[in-house]
Amino acid sequence: PTPIRAAIVGYGNLGRSVERLVALQPDMELVGIFSRRDALDTDAPVFPVANAADHAGEIDVLFLCLGSATDIPEQAAGFAKLFTTVDTYDNHKLIPSHRTEMDAAARDGGNVAMISTGWDPGLFSINRTLAEALFPSAEQHTFWGPGLSQGHSDAIRRIPGVIRGVQYTVPREEALAAARTGGAEISGKDAHQRHGVVVADAADHDRIREAIVTMPDYFVGYETTVEFVSEDEFERDHQGMPHGGRVITSGDLAGSRSTVEFSLELERNPDFTGAAMVAYGRAAARMRAEGRVGAVTVLEVAPYLLSPASLDELIARDV
Ligand code: NAP
Repeated sequence: PTPIRAAIVGYGNLGRSVERLVALQPDMELVGIFSRRDALDTDAPVFPVANAADHAGEIDVLFLCLGSATDIPEQAAGFAKLFTTVDTYDNHKLIPSHRTEMDAAARDGGNVAMISTGWDPGLFSINRTLAEALFPSAEQHTFWGPGLSQGHSDAIRRIPGVIRGVQYTVPREEALAAARTGGAEISGKDAHQRHGVVVADAADHDRIREAIVTMPDYFVGYETTVEFVSEDEFERDHQGMPHGGRVITSGDLAGSRSTVEFSLELERNPDFTGAAMVAYGRAAARMRAEGRVGAVTVLEVAPYLLSPASLDELIARDV
């Protein structure tokens, strides 16, 4: 079979991960990378985003590795008119309107727009739906971390005097245990604790700690700890992008109790998000080849379409 011709738009953390992962797929080849910048540190062909339409016939799937804050809302539909696309759009509240917009654009161009893949949304969405469907009355909780939260890290770095800063979100053990047993009320604020790691002058420590723990929306109401480290320690221990989380669902099944748990421990968030994106890119290209058009969510994709192996092989293997 001919390989799936893949391309990437946006060369940040996710775009770089997808580039490395596409190279490891037995059934994909990378045509090139579209970027708003012209000098990228890659051996792959780099094309200006403005010329995307010229490449429409050469690409089976385009990975939209753009930011969810503004890039995806502004640009994704334009790409969906020209290409079969995959995105990891993660603004949960706006996914329904993103779906409507991508559906219209993809139908217009005769393409598939695979939306909101990754892990949350993405693999967590599938597990929330799957587990909930099993219980007449499900209790379900999603926990995030241990992991680096980009938004909370940015909030810490905006405090005057902070030289370097990151924030880790950690699920509380008591809340995990309560979710597994069921029957307890767990809110977002007692489910997680927050840990800030900051580099700053010693004279600023008390003021910065106070500014963090009293910051509305981000930290107030959470059990928050702040640790000050040296620049060297920060450089050595806090450069990674670990993340993960779990979806825990439990409930009564006509007299007995069961618990379903899906958990992820990710050493590097963009590598895992990219891996999910690449698998859904394969599914998108296959669904398009079979005649599907329009927006498709992860809930609509049959699992075998994600695998490079054939359905017959997967069934024979599953013994
Ligand atoms: P990022 O590194 O900030 O990259 C976003 C865009 O910024 C890139 O596409 C790139 O576009 C531009 N860019 C990157 N580095 C740049 C630089 N040095 N100078 C100028 N521009 C630069 O973001 P990311 O970490 O790849 O994450 C992308 C999105 O993935 C996030 O917004 C998030 O919503 C999503 N995500 C989803 C999940 C999930 O589970 N669904 C999980 C993790 C992340 P150009 O190449 O065109 O300049």
